[in-house]
Amino acid sequence: MNYQPILNSIYKAIKTTKDKGKVANYIPELSQVSTDNFGICLLNNTQETFKVGDALKPFSIQSISKVLALAKVFSLVDNDLWKRVDVEPSGNPFNHLSLLEHENGIPRNPLINSGALVIADILVSNLENPKEDFLQFIRTITNDNSIDYNLNVANSERLTGYRNYAAAYLLKSFGNLENDVEKVLDFYFHQCAIAMTCEQLTKAFFLFSNQGKCIQEKQILSKSQTKRINAIMLTCGFYDEAGEFAFEVGLPGKSGVGGGIVALLPNHFVISVWSPGLNSKGNSKLGMQALEKFTTETKISIF
Ligand code: GLU
Repeated sequence: MNYQPILNSIYKAIKTTKDKGKVANYIPELSQVSTDNFGICLLNNTQETFKVGDALKPFSIQSISKVLALAKVFSLVDNDLWKRVDVEPSGNPFNHLSLLEHENGIPRNPLINSGALVIADILVSNLENPKEDFLQFIRTITNDNSIDYNLNVANSERLTGYRNYAAAYLLKSFGNLENDVEKVLDFYFHQCAIAMTCEQLTKAFFLFSNQGKCIQEKQILSKSQTKRINAIMLTCGFYDEAGEFAFEVGLPGKSGVGGGIVALLPNHFVISVWSPGLNSKGNSKLGMQALEKFTTETKISIF
């Protein structure tokens, strides 16, 4: 299928929208980005690419990195991981803490911040050089060595990451963090500060639409692990708006406060959108609209 005409028509429609949402400003470095940026890239399973707008401009992937960190942990420790983090949607914002207190330090899922901190802790325990090795993992699955951390963003987040510090200390108090809080947070802030383009993101997520095999056809996850990560994206990938995203778009995916969203149809394609303005739930406002338009007009979704 030629996806170019539909991407062009979405681009045209979205570009004229006046209310583009608001950039995240709780991480000061992210507030510097213009809401005029807008890009889409689609990579199908025969590895053809379709793109429009700012699809080749790097941006901060933020929480989208949580799926890649989860994939790396799953490949390292397999199902042991579920002793430390659950797989239920939270129905709460990404940085909410009260459920953690009620549920004895077992985060609801690996895609909210507390769950992602447990995943980061497992990576810090299992990788020899955690930051270098994780970056190398992403470079390998995308076959792209230009991908890197944006150190200004990592630093900006460290300076204002009070809620993440609170979550990490709470996890530590429940015995669900093996390493030092500072060490885990340093890894986590870097992980969120990886800069990637829409095109690079479609390559990184290709394995989730390709039964666990990356673009080089190397088996990174088993089919069962891939199914599970896709299920978690569908139910937990959009903060407390996961139901809305499934309802409007109907694809598993993950958003980040940098304004990126990646979604996929297993065995068919990965699509990523970047529009930095967020809605009140922290998801890219126009990114959600673009994907809703895409699945409505093509009549393609997992349902
Ligand atoms: N680094 C961000 C934080 O921990 C990630 C938030 C997000 O993209 O949802 O606050």
